[in-house]
Amino acid sequence: MSLTPVNVRISEIFGNCTFNLNVMKEKLPKQVFKRFLDIIEKGRKLDAETADAIAHAMKEWALSKGVTHYTHWFQPMTGLTAEKHDAFIQFDSDDHISVIERFSGSQLIQSEPDASSFPSGGMRSTFEARGYTAWDPTSPAFIIERGRGSILCIPSAFISYHGGVLDMKTPLLRSMEAVSKAALRVLKLFGNKSVYRVKSSVGAEQEYFLVDHRHADKRLDIKICGRTLLGARPVKGQEMEDHYFASIKDRVLDFMQDFEFELLKLGVPCKTRHNEVAPHQFEIAPIYEEANIAADHNQLVMETMKRIAKKHDFYALLAEKPFAYVNGSGKHCNWSLIDTDGNNLLDPGQTPEENLQFLVFLMASLMAVEKHGGLLRAAIASAGNDHRLGANEAPPAIMSVFLGEMLSQILDQIESGKVKDAREKSFLDMGISKLPKVSKDQTDRNRTSPFAFTGNKFEFRAVGSSSSISIPVAVLNAAAAESIHELADQIEILTKKTKNFESAVIETVKKAIEKTKKVRFEGNNYSEQWLKEAKSRSLPIAKNTPEALKFWIDKKQNSCLINLGILNEEEIESRYHICFEQYNKTIEIELATMLKMLSRQVLPSAYIYQKEIASSVEAALQLREALNDISPAAAGTDKSSSLEDLDIMPQVKFFKEYAGAVSKLQIAIEHLREVKSELAAEEDLIKKADIIVKKALPAMQSARATADFLETVTDRECWSLPTYSELLFWD
Ligand code: ADP
Ligand code: MG
Repeated sequence: MSLTPVNVRISEIFGNCTFNLNVMKEKLPKQVFKRFLDIIEKGRKLDAETADAIAHAMKEWALSKGVTHYTHWFQPMTGLTAEKHDAFIQFDSDDHISVIERFSGSQLIQSEPDASSFPSGGMRSTFEARGYTAWDPTSPAFIIERGRGSILCIPSAFISYHGGVLDMKTPLLRSMEAVSKAALRVLKLFGNKSVYRVKSSVGAEQEYFLVDHRHADKRLDIKICGRTLLGARPVKGQEMEDHYFASIKDRVLDFMQDFEFELLKLGVPCKTRHNEVAPHQFEIAPIYEEANIAADHNQLVMETMKRIAKKHDFYALLAEKPFAYVNGSGKHCNWSLIDTDGNNLLDPGQTPEENLQFLVFLMASLMAVEKHGGLLRAAIASAGNDHRLGANEAPPAIMSVFLGEMLSQILDQIESGKVKDAREKSFLDMGISKLPKVSKDQTDRNRTSPFAFTGNKFEFRAVGSSSSISIPVAVLNAAAAESIHELADQIEILTKKTKNFESAVIETVKKAIEKTKKVRFEGNNYSEQWLKEAKSRSLPIAKNTPEALKFWIDKKQNSCLINLGILNEEEIESRYHICFEQYNKTIEIELATMLKMLSRQVLPSAYIYQKEIASSVEAALQLREALNDISPAAAGTDKSSSLEDLDIMPQVKFFKEYAGAVSKLQIAIEHLREVKSELAAEEDLIKKADIIVKKALPAMQSARATADFLETVTDRECWSLPTYSELLFWD
């Protein structure tokens, strides 16, 4: 089944459902369009007249496409998107009889969804619950076609009545501004006069699983939690490595075509797709875009994926660890800085001057991780990602940077002041500054690093697959901005002192190399040794979400957010609470789901089978006794038909083992109930998280082990839950 029309060219449908610059250029008066470009490119203030003209054109365009309603589309701190629809209507006159379609500039710019039920971490008490949304003109409005409805979505920020930040987009936009300002400073120091803005670019590779509806529908854990909480190891997992990059099966490809068709219409530049490592795990990667647009688009990727998967009788699982025993899913955020002349600031240049500039931005990135590794760890922390980080399949929970052999050598040489001609091609003495020539790294990638340099960008690999990219990227931008300013300060001071710009930069880079050495790690991040080594380097280590979240309120860690005006203390505090709340709620729901499955499915199945074993053993015993009672004459001399020497003990032993496990499960269920009540009674968020880590998670793990054992020895006919083999190998 495919919903996508055949014979369409991507270039013809791309962005058809977006009010993008092409459409605006065509629909808006020339002057208005020019003013709009100044607003989004140069930060000019939006005036009422321009807003009215854009609103009118946007409405007319939307109506021509069958749209009836509009919504300010925003991203509250649930990590999802939110919308509240308004029809484009207004009474025509005071008689309140007929209506006309209207949409004003002020309606476009701002609305008050009165969304009082979104998490605000105590920042917004419900009696003055109003929050309002504000249009983000840099991200194109788009039309979502859902069911029979077509809705115009206006990407927006969500702010509390008193101006406090309540969403994911605002800090991201502010961080983009901050990093642009900082980077511009350095570019100006290097004599660049043409550049007026620096964009943070992001390409988010999204991993996911597809499961067949027939099986997933029978699993409460998949339906409620988006991941399995129970399930024994399947006979085959990913060990044959036969799924990675394998040919994509027809049914999946049909889904991908439809899914991408929808995204392409929404202007999401889907570029690459492939089978990932685990069975029925896949990846979609778009071409990179400016961070806020990439973030909006990633939300659309996740939502559209789930929606279109349903049409194909699939569940799309975005959880970080939907299945034990096979790989989990991540969202690799490729990140760089690109100026308005189109130069990638993390691309090693052709000339020594360009390379010097590259080194400044490279060092700023290292400093960002060195100073704010804890905050970065906090930004990616979630209950789901805890299963993935450090599980030998994903970057560990310790933030370090991988640079590759060549860059590492170059930095070592600059640090020691000795520039060698180690490799003729790449290590040339440039005369003017004795700077080694930096060219693209040819070395192998280090898949185990959470933050790896990949030639002209960093790949932040520790982000969870279900997470919004906004906060991880905002923190990255903020930390980078702070470091760029710090380097610019030093360059300025040293230049004044020495009157030699180049040597001032080299000296600054050199100092930064020394300072950031401890976050550089080229080895295997999965190894036990690294954990020890990281401890000795006193890098921030957080084993789980509650430990990681503490970095939010660590003053050293969050200073970049506060000093650059990205989030204030109150906003950080509220975010900290929301993250704890979300962590707690997620685990409480998982615990309740597991409890329900164990008591209503697993245990009943086990009791049925226990009874079967019991009656079977009993029947065998009875038969033996009965036969023994018969006179030897009746049994004849045929020894083989006699049951006298039949050893029933192995069967009894199995029964004992089985019944033992059933009792153990019964006890585990009771224990889970107790922990559940204890959690429910605890109101303090931090204490509750503590109970989760110390009691709930171990209790769940132990209950699962018993249930999974029972699964492996119970008659398939008695076992009501679909197994891992069915969930992972559904075709
Ligand atoms: P590779 O396979 O070498 O990692 P790709 O070119 O396939 O690199 O890119 C992977 C992802 O990184 C894509 O989403 C791509 O758009 C993104 N990407 C490439 N260059 C940049 C950049 N300068 N800034 C941000 N993301 C980038
Ligand atoms: Mg990848």
